[in-house]
Amino acid sequence: YERTFMMVKPDGVQRQLTGEIIKRMETKGYVLVGLKMVTPDEKLVSQHYDDLKARPFYKGLVKYMSSSGPVVAMVFQGKGVVDYGRVMIGVTDPLKSAPGTIRGDLSVDVGRNTIHGSDGTSPAQDEIALWFKPEEVA
Ligand code: ATP
Ligand code: MG
Repeated sequence: YERTFMMVKPDGVQRQLTGEIIKRMETKGYVLVGLKMVTPDEKLVSQHYDDLKARPFYKGLVKYMSSSGPVVAMVFQGKGVVDYGRVMIGVTDPLKSAPGTIRGDLSVDVGRNTIHGSDGTSPAQDEIALWFKPEEVA
């Protein structure tokens, strides 16, 4: 089955939304096969958001993600989990995300949008390999 990488961002951890997010994914039918709390350094966050290097918010994004406390890194498995996981998350801006989505229900700020999800099966594989050792994933 398909796998995706998801991450509760520092704001989500601080606001104690990790359980709510896992519950939504599990209730839908997706299986948690990897889970850890980590405080990523700038190098790891830079690699993760490598494709956004040219964007004006990139520096602030890397700073935020690497200096605001831990994140919760997760791998979920199941049918269509990459694309449908993104549907469940909502769009980048929480104020443009529909009610019923994670960002639509739980966030208001694009820079504090609570969760990350891989945006394709190829990025998903890369991100799982970046954040998890093979033996850390079931
Ligand atoms: P993510 O990759 O974190 O799941 P995404 O795929 O919806 O989010 P990206 O375009 O990959 O959006 O941007 C990565 C992150 O950078 C966003 O989640 C958001 O936190 C931040 N970001 C994106 N656009 C802006 C912006 N205009 N201003 C501030 N931060 C932004
Ligand atoms: Mg993205």
